[in-house]
Amino acid sequence: MQEDPGGSKLPGKPAEKLLQLQKEAAGCSLCELRKTCSQVVFGEGNFSTRLMLVGEGPGAEEDRLGRPFVGRAGQLLDRILAAAEIKREDVYITNVVKCRPPSNRLPLQPEVDACYPYLRAQIELVNPEIVLCLGALATRTLYDKNAAITRVRGQWKEKDGRCILATFHPAALLRDPSKKKFAWEDFKKIMAVYRNTQKEVADE
Ligand code: SF4
Repeated sequence: MQEDPGGSKLPGKPAEKLLQLQKEAAGCSLCELRKTCSQVVFGEGNFSTRLMLVGEGPGAEEDRLGRPFVGRAGQLLDRILAAAEIKREDVYITNVVKCRPPSNRLPLQPEVDACYPYLRAQIELVNPEIVLCLGALATRTLYDKNAAITRVRGQWKEKDGRCILATFHPAALLRDPSKKKFAWEDFKKIMAVYRNTQKEVADE
C-alpha cells in the first residue's frame, strides 16, 4: 500500500485509476479505523459527474453493505436529491473517512489525515465542478479548516477551480428537523448551478 495514493500518479484513464485506487483502499490499514470496521466504503457513483457529495464517514448500514449513504441519513439524502431533481446515479458520493468509526463517533484528526489522500485523489480523478460538503467534518476538510458549518453553509467558495458549498449532514437534519429548511435552501443553490453545468454539457 502506498502511503500517498495520489490519483494523478496512477497509470491509466481516470475511471481505471479510480477503480485501482478503490482496490488499494480495500486493503488499507493506514489508520486504526480499519481494525473495527467490516469493510472499506470507498464511494460510488458517476465517475465523470460534475457534482460530488462528501459526507463524514460510513455508519452501521454503510459498513454492512459497503456503500455510502444507505442508512436513514442516506434515505433522507435520496429524498432531498429526488426533490432537487438530481439523480443519485448521476453524482459521485463518498465520505471523508472510508471506514466506520466505532459507535459512529467522530473521526479523529489523525484518521482524517490518514484517509485524506484517498479523498483528494477521488476529487482529482472525478474532477467535479461542484463539491457539496455534507456536515461539519467535510466542511472543515474541504471548505475551510476553521469553518463553522452554521456560519458558512449556503455560501459558495471557489477553490482549486471548483465551486464548493457546505450544508448540514442529513443525520443532523434527522436529529434537528428545524435545520431542513436551511438545507433545502442550500440544495436549491446546488440544483441551479448543477443544472447550468448539465446544460453546458448538452450544448457542447
Ligand atoms: S479510514 Fe481511510 S486511512 Fe483509515 S484504514 Fe480506512 S481507508 Fe485506510
